[in-house]
Parts: sequence; structure tokens; C-alpha cells
Amino acid sequence: AKLVATVARLPRMSSDRAVLRVALPVPLARLFDYRAPGGAHAEHAAVGGRVRVPFGSRELIGVVAEVGDGDPSARETREALDLLDVAPLLHGELLGSLQWLSRYVHAPLGEVLATALPADLRQGQPLPDTHIAGWRAMAGALERVTRDGAPRRLLALLAQGALSEDALDDLQPGWRTAARGLAKRGLVEELRIDATAAPVATQPAPVLNDEQRAAAEAIAGIDGFGAVLLDGVTGSGKTEVYLHAIAQCLARGRQALVLVPEIGLAPQTLARFRARLGVPVHALHSGLNDTERARVWTAAWRGEARVIVGTRSAIFTPLPHAGLIVVDEEHDGSYKQQDGIRYHARDFALVRGKALGVPVVLGSATPSLESLQNAHAGRYAHLRLMQRAGNAKPPSVRVLDIRKRQLDAGLSNELIAKLEATLQAGGQALVFKNRRGYAPVLLCHDCGWSAQCKRCEAPMTVHAAGRRLQCHHCGARQPAPQACPDCGGLALQPQGVGTERLEERLIERFPDFNVLRVDRGSTRRRDALETLLGELGAQPGVLVGTQMLAKGHDLPNLTLVAVVGIDEGLFSADFRAGEKLAQLLIQVAGRAGRAERPGEVWLQTHHPEHPLLQTLINGGYHAFADAELALREAAGFPPFAHLALVRAEAKDAASPLAFLEVAKAAFRECGVAGLEVHGPLPAPMPRRAGFQRSQLLVSSPQRRALQAALDMAMPVLRDAPEARRLRWSLDVDPVDL
Ligand code: ADP
Ligand code: ZN
Ligand code: ZN
Repeated sequence: AKLVATVARLPRMSSDRAVLRVALPVPLARLFDYRAPGGAHAEHAAVGGRVRVPFGSRELIGVVAEVGDGDPSARETREALDLLDVAPLLHGELLGSLQWLSRYVHAPLGEVLATALPADLRQGQPLPDTHIAGWRAMAGALERVTRDGAPRRLLALLAQGALSEDALDDLQPGWRTAARGLAKRGLVEELRIDATAAPVATQPAPVLNDEQRAAAEAIAGIDGFGAVLLDGVTGSGKTEVYLHAIAQCLARGRQALVLVPEIGLAPQTLARFRARLGVPVHALHSGLNDTERARVWTAAWRGEARVIVGTRSAIFTPLPHAGLIVVDEEHDGSYKQQDGIRYHARDFALVRGKALGVPVVLGSATPSLESLQNAHAGRYAHLRLMQRAGNAKPPSVRVLDIRKRQLDAGLSNELIAKLEATLQAGGQALVFKNRRGYAPVLLCHDCGWSAQCKRCEAPMTVHAAGRRLQCHHCGARQPAPQACPDCGGLALQPQGVGTERLEERLIERFPDFNVLRVDRGSTRRRDALETLLGELGAQPGVLVGTQMLAKGHDLPNLTLVAVVGIDEGLFSADFRAGEKLAQLLIQVAGRAGRAERPGEVWLQTHHPEHPLLQTLINGGYHAFADAELALREAAGFPPFAHLALVRAEAKDAASPLAFLEVAKAAFRECGVAGLEVHGPLPAPMPRRAGFQRSQLLVSSPQRRALQAALDMAMPVLRDAPEARRLRWSLDVDPVDL
């Protein structure tokens, strides 16, 4: 009887007229009709399952988006080759949310679905075994390694039985190097372990303070969907509040998804989550290979993964038993995808939370102006943590006016003396400089020539102590010239200071102490940063680095943060530059004095009276944010307006302009009230990698009006003959203008 009831509820459709409507990863904004393979009825296909189909002379993997009424016998309707899934992969809430995303960013559903699936599954591979990675020692291995050291310690651990990689991260940080060496000698091997059975050691949680408890209770009180802005100063214990909420979610038998910024997913963080929650934590980040990604995704889809912690694209994780979504450091720029499907993971988290009927917690010490405005308008609950947790005190801030001072590799004498004193007292210092490389420019002192990238409108950055030039925009590399290409002179000099040069100078200055550089150049390998910081431990030393150092790591011995060279950011044309700089300064400053020892922040600048610095120092982030929101409102910028940006680039300068004029006319013709169209204007980098780039900005006070205009204009843009001669893209809610 149950079966009959189910069948009766199916939409009425004569089975010989049913076709598969397939979303394919092609740049065409439509679905494609196919007959079910091998004479099967289309109704038997799973909506949300993958299907292999012929497309032109190729074969593609698509997703069945609908089973619909059509004409399977029409000559142009081809037969699908293979249904790959018995059970749907993308269905229910996830399929619905992705359909919403496809409409919102105006990208074909097939491309959105392809972005949401891990590469292996997108390419048609079967669902993987979901056991997790582990290691075991071969019989007699321990006896063969007699020398003390990391390899022997690892073998001693494994001698008692296989361990998951997670457990190894906890027990012997930096174990991977030893494991690789032992594996080469055939003494250890990788294997798969059942995640649900893998043992996890637990640690007790600290007792929450009053502010934390109030926040945790407010989150626990949410029934169904609700957005929360957890606005807490650095070190206020936001992570403890998340952990509390996640533990409750697990207790109800539900899954929790935690998003972290690209640079925030330290093994340290994962270990803390595992230890507190007592369940395996599945990590999804760019360091995983395709097999591992598909495995975590599938474990979530099967409901086996209970806690998933991941970077941007983890927002596409299926959550059949969803209970909670957390977005940590919600202001972070890495949540916005900058090419392909240009989604914002934080914003999409809210869409999914609503569709799933679960709370979404956005946490930050420096919330985005968008989220603050949503909180002010009452759309988000605004929970604040004003005090640092435990015994830690907020750091004191000192502004160092360096006008007319002599600088040594960008450092003033006062700062060098302060670094010295910090080291002598056994402390650690962080010198923050947001510029990779040795120096930003190579200049000829005789004639004024400077090394420019041939393909970009930008100087090349000097690397390797002056021996190499590299373009940070297109990746071009070349050896630095010995003599000036223009005048033949030998007076070529690196101008300005990057992290490499700072490191070189600090090593010379403090030969008896550790000096470590942390930036994308020095920590390309996944666990490199961890190993680096592990080696430093509690010893006195100086860390030199870019914003990679701004978060993620608790360095209890760090007492001094020195910020050098932020002045460029004070005068940028981007209307978000002030917000980004304020966030960066507060986040970096927040690294100081997170434990018992008080912290100090020294800020070196040529512009001590700049209003942004003054407001930040005297009033803190919220004073800055209030002032900035007032400016944005007056100027009609986000969050008080909604933007879309059309970018176009070609080898010649004329085609992008011609195309954008067509686009401009299309937006004008929509007749949507209040719509403003600015441009075409040159892009912030008018030439990159040999392409001439222009853009058109569309804005409206109403999101809905902007979407209505895009709905009307996009088909015109797609079909414009001018579009064929160039590369173009639409970016809804762009963050870099
Ligand atoms: P945030 O995420 O806000 O920067 P964390 O959650 O990382 O802060 O907490 C900062 C530090 O304070 C951590 O070392 C954490 O263990 C500690 N901590 C957090 N909450 C408490 C508490 N209630 N009691 C004692 N220590 C705490
Ligand atoms: Zn010259
Ligand atoms: Zn370049």
C-alpha cells in the first residue's frame, strides 16, 4: 500500500513522453533534453544524479536537473549513455540552493553544479570509500630504526596499532616528514580507517565566562533558521562559543559545517576541534588531493561526517542532517570566489541556512560592514564579546611617527631597539609587512629606468636578494639584469622593502636569535607553517610575515607586534580599502599578548594623524565602522547599494570598450528605476598578462531591482556579436572593483 501511495503522488506524465533535462558544464544558460539510456523510462532516473551524455562530438558528465515532459522521439533528442547514480547526489535543499545561486550569479546551472561537486565526482568517478587516511608500521620496523628522533618516535606510536592522520597530528605535530622517509624505506604504509570507529582523545572545555555563556545560550535558543553575528574582540573566545554550539548540535544527532578562511585552517585548529568534540573532524581545504576531497564530500553526503571544517568551497558540502553552520572570520576576503562561478561563501551560507532551517553563526572581531549593517537593521542577532577570555589583556597600541627618521630596511631605530629589548627579555615579536619578495621595484639610479612586466602594467617584484624578478600579477619570472637595459649603467638598486629583505636585515641584526619568514613564498607546502612554528616553540625570536600571520595561530609568547609599511593602504582608490586595512590592523594587533604576558602593538607610519588610524586607535573597530558606514550611506556605496561588475578583456583596447558600450545600452534599455550605470572605465590593472581590461559598474539601492536588470540584460550580452571577440564576465556583489 505504501508503494501505491508513493506512485500516486508522482506528477502525471505519460512515460513515453518523459525526457531527462540535464544540466551540463557548458557556458549555455539552459538545460538539455536526453532520452533515458537503453530504452529505460526517464522517470526511473534520479533527479540530482549524474548522467553521461553525448554532446556534439564529445561526451560530458551532467546532472539530471528535472525529469520533464518532452518528445523523446524527436530527432534532435539524443539518448543518454549512462546513469551514474542510483541515489541522487545533488537533491533536495542542496539542489534548490544551487539553483538559486545559478539565478543569483547569472551563471548556467550546469556550471554551478560542476563547481559544487568535487573534481572526481564531476568527472564521473564512482563514489569513493569513505574511510579516513591512517598509517601503520610494518612488523619489526621499530627494531630497524635505533637512532632517536622523529622517525623512531613515530614508529613507537604506530607500534601499538594503526592511527589516523588526525590522531598523528595531535600526537606528533610535523610527523609527515618522518612518515614520508619511513614509507620510502618500506617501514610504514598508508591505509584507510573507519572514521566513525577512529578513537579521539578528548579534553575538557574551559568554563565559559558570562559573555560567552550568554552568546552560547542565545544560539542554543534559536529554533530553525536564524542569523547571528558573533562580534567579539580578538581572543575573546569565539571559538569556544562555536564549540559549545557544535557540541549541542552533535548531541541532537545533527551535522555541523564550519567555514574558515583560506589561511586559517591550521592543523592546530583541527586538533582543538577534535579534542573538544570527541568526534572525527573532516577537513576540506585546498591542500587535499581530488581523492581526499571526494571522500570528505561523500562522507558528509552519507551523513558519516558529523563535523566538517573547510575553506570557501566547503559551503557546497551536502548536509542531510544539518544542524548548524558557522562562518569564522566572516569578513575575510577569501570567502569570495574571484573567477569562474563568483559566489560568496558567507552569503551562500545564509541562503543554505535558511533553506535548511538551521542557525548560521557569523563570527569576527572585525565584522564586514555588510554584516554590521544587517545586525543594525535587526536582520541578524548581534552578540558581542567585549573582553578577552581567560587572563589575557588587550594590547596597548603605540603610533610611531617616522617622518624625517632614518630607516634601515624600513625599520626605525626605536623599533629596532624595541625588538632587541623584546628578544633579550625572552619574548617573541611579529613584524608585519604586507609585501612579499625582496623589494617591490628594481630601479636604475643613473637613468630612472625600472623593471616593468612586459605583459602587465605593473613593476616586477625583486626576489632572491635581487637575483630574480617576478610579476605578482601574471607570474612571469626572469633573472634580474646585471646592467641597466636602458643606459647600461651598473647602478641597479632594489627600491622599497618586502618580507625577504626584512628577513635578511633582521638576521644580520639579531644573529643569535631565530628569525622566521612566513608568507606564501616560504610556506607553500601544507604543513610548512606548522613545522616552522613548531620549531620556534616558546624560544625568543622574530617572525616576519604578510597577512598569513594575521590569524589562525595562538602564539602565547608573542608580546610585540610591529606593523611597518601600511601607508600604501591609506590612500587606495578602492572604496573598501579603508575597511580592509582597519580589519587587517586589528587582526594583526590581536596576535599580541593572547596569554599571560601583556602585548604591545607598534605602528610605524608617515601619516600618524590620518583619520582612519586616529579613529581606530582612539575608538576601536566599531568607531571606525560607524564612521565608515555613514560615509558609505552618503556616497551610495554597499551595503546601502548593490553592485554588479561586468569585466571585459582582449588583446586590443577597442573590443572591451565596444562590448561594454553594448552592455551599457542593454542596462539602460531595461528601464529599471534607480539603476545607475558607470563606465566603461579602465580596470584597476588596465593591462594584465597581455590583456587590455575594462569594466562597467551597475548599481542599485535595491537588490531586487539590480537582479531584475541583470535578468533582462544578460541574454543580450550573451548574444551580442561583440562578445565573441573577447573574454568577459559578470561579478554580482564584487569585492574588488
Ligand atoms: P577567538 O576565537 O575569539 O580569537 P579563542 O576562542 O581562540 O578566541 O580563545 C582565545 C584563547 O582564550 C584561547 O587560548 C582559549 O583557549 C582561551 N579561552 C577561551 N575561552 C576561555 C574561557 N572561558 N576560560 C579560559 N580560557 C578561555
Ligand atoms: Zn639606467
Ligand atoms: Zn605580469
